[in-house]
Amino acid sequence: MFDLDQAIRKIPDFPKQGILFYDITSILTNPEAFAYCVDTIVGIYRDSGIDAVACIEARGFLFASPVALQLGLPIVLVRKKGKLPGETLEKTFSLEYGMDTIQVHKADVAAGSRYLVIDDLIATGGTVKAAVELIEEGGAAVHEICCIIGLPFLPYKDLLSGYQVRTLIDYHSE
Ligand code: AMP
Repeated sequence: MFDLDQAIRKIPDFPKQGILFYDITSILTNPEAFAYCVDTIVGIYRDSGIDAVACIEARGFLFASPVALQLGLPIVLVRKKGKLPGETLEKTFSLEYGMDTIQVHKADVAAGSRYLVIDDLIATGGTVKAAVELIEEGGAAVHEICCIIGLPFLPYKDLLSGYQVRTLIDYHSE
């Protein structure tokens, strides 16, 4: 079993005092760690019946792209407001400080399809929840949510109750 923990750099007090930042760039610079993450996700979802992979800007893109390619599935980008050129659906949600808005191309969310949602890390779950709502607003369904890192001491399980959230590694304190 690959030791993913040793491949994740932890940076205290980033981006502000009191936050322990889990830095996935140290996974990307470690091909064995990156392959472990991609292969594990591909193994979980190979025969799951999903139709597409949705991923969240920007770190979610990095993990979802090789997964979608290996599964032979479309990849749909959930982006920050103002980045997508076509007609979009959008959702505004609250962050720890202030608000953020994400968008998806309306034409890319196929009605009736089952999506796997991928991001790098799930903390409060606010970002993933907004992405799930966008996909559902487009008429598609969310099969599961898969993130590399979970912080289960934050309330993402409550926010996403009713959805299966998988993580490859969990950290249980700040
Ligand atoms: P949230 O909406 O609270 O679940 O936060 C989601 C996004 O914030 C994730 O996609 C991460 O990129 C980033 N994030 C939040 N907390 C951390 C942390 N402790 N370390 C690294 N990234 C984080």
